[in-house]
Amino acid sequence: MTVVTRFAPSPTGFLHIGGARTALFNWLYARHHGGVFRLRIEDTDRKRSTDEAIQAIVQGLEWLGLDWDEETVFQSTRAERHAEIARALLEAGQAYYCYASQEELDEMRQTAKKEGRPMRYDGRWRDRDPSEAPEGVDPVIRLKAPQEGETLIKDEVQGSVRVANEQLDDMVLLRANGSPTYMLSVVVDDHDMGITHVIRGDDHLTNAFRQTLLYEAIGWEAPSFAHIPLIHGPDGAKMSKRHGALGVETYREMGFLPEALRNYLLRLGWGHGDDEVISTDQAIAWFDLDGVGRSAARFDFAKLSNLNGHYLREAEDQRLVDILCTDFYGEVTTAGRKRLLAGMAGLKPRAKTMKELADLGQFYVSDRPLVFEEKAQKLIAKGGKDLLADIKEILEKVENWSENELENSIRTLSEQRELKLGAVAQPLRAALTGSSISPGIFEVAAILGREETLGRLNDAREQVETFSISAN
Ligand code: GLU
Repeated sequence: MTVVTRFAPSPTGFLHIGGARTALFNWLYARHHGGVFRLRIEDTDRKRSTDEAIQAIVQGLEWLGLDWDEETVFQSTRAERHAEIARALLEAGQAYYCYASQEELDEMRQTAKKEGRPMRYDGRWRDRDPSEAPEGVDPVIRLKAPQEGETLIKDEVQGSVRVANEQLDDMVLLRANGSPTYMLSVVVDDHDMGITHVIRGDDHLTNAFRQTLLYEAIGWEAPSFAHIPLIHGPDGAKMSKRHGALGVETYREMGFLPEALRNYLLRLGWGHGDDEVISTDQAIAWFDLDGVGRSAARFDFAKLSNLNGHYLREAEDQRLVDILCTDFYGEVTTAGRKRLLAGMAGLKPRAKTMKELADLGQFYVSDRPLVFEEKAQKLIAKGGKDLLADIKEILEKVENWSENELENSIRTLSEQRELKLGAVAQPLRAALTGSSISPGIFEVAAILGREETLGRLNDAREQVETFSISAN
């Protein structure tokens, strides 16, 4: 049997982190088994579904590298097929027309409320003859669900879960206006798409009972179910925005790499011994439902950042430059790109996120004159105008513009002026980077090149008097 999984988001918002994990698990399960991973957009709620949300979901999946097979199915286009199954059930005596009015249903709801139990339709049209139907009322179609016995789900994560059938009422399949209900649509689509494994959040576990009844009534084999525990915040409370319940695109903006987020999401609810850093190839080789835990996973930004730092250090320099230029910097000159690439080896050990990397590497791509941070202004002011002039003078004499020679000449200058190396190097750093922290300053100067270095020194010298900050 070929494994076929699916991700079935409702496009009413962005692709949030929980959805992304569900998609990842389905994708991994399919890839592990050499199967098929499909995408179904559950856009039946026309009022709440938006094109922007569909875009966000598709882009989020693409960014995460979760490619799907075959064509995307849009649930809304299949309403006629769903209705056809409801009518077939009606003909087979597995479903019936229900003419209960809104008032009658409200009354049932009130009674249930008083008795402190969930509302259940009482089956009043189950065995009634359609000739008794009130005139001018469009009926709904309800499933004639079994009233005795129990429904059992052998969930691959939750184990055997059962419910007494008397707890489940005769659910509506087709509304009075002919539109299918969510429960019917999901079952028909999963069947028609050949889905063998439904892996989704455990907030859908109760739906699985009703869906199982529907499969039985139609005479279709139900897929295997795996309901994965939801993600909670680090404090164990339900996930909120503060905890990271954000769209995948926000993680991208915050500077996380897709492979880091994939690794992190994988570990969020799934484990393989003590392994933390798991490449996607390893994940495909190892992933199975046995490793999914039963308790809610806790989201932890610090862990995600650490993993991101790891993947950032492993990433190819050119790729990081490309990401920085498309996602973080506006226009970057060819010279800026070149410098950034040359400086990447020195930058990347110092950053955990692409955002940090963008901040750190900004000076390589900035046009002159730089904007000086407050701390940099202080350093330059402290060194003074004369020191900048001396630095410039000695650097102008450097013949071979290399890290080594640059360092030698600055050392010579600090000896001549009887200053510590730092007292010369720090104002130099501030002048060249606009900041008080950067990779090794001789490396930076070597990468910036003679002209740019001398130009930046000049800019700093010209501006030093405008720095209103005292040198102390
Ligand atoms: N559309 C549902 C959701 O976004 C998922 C349905 C399912 O996976 O069966 O929560």
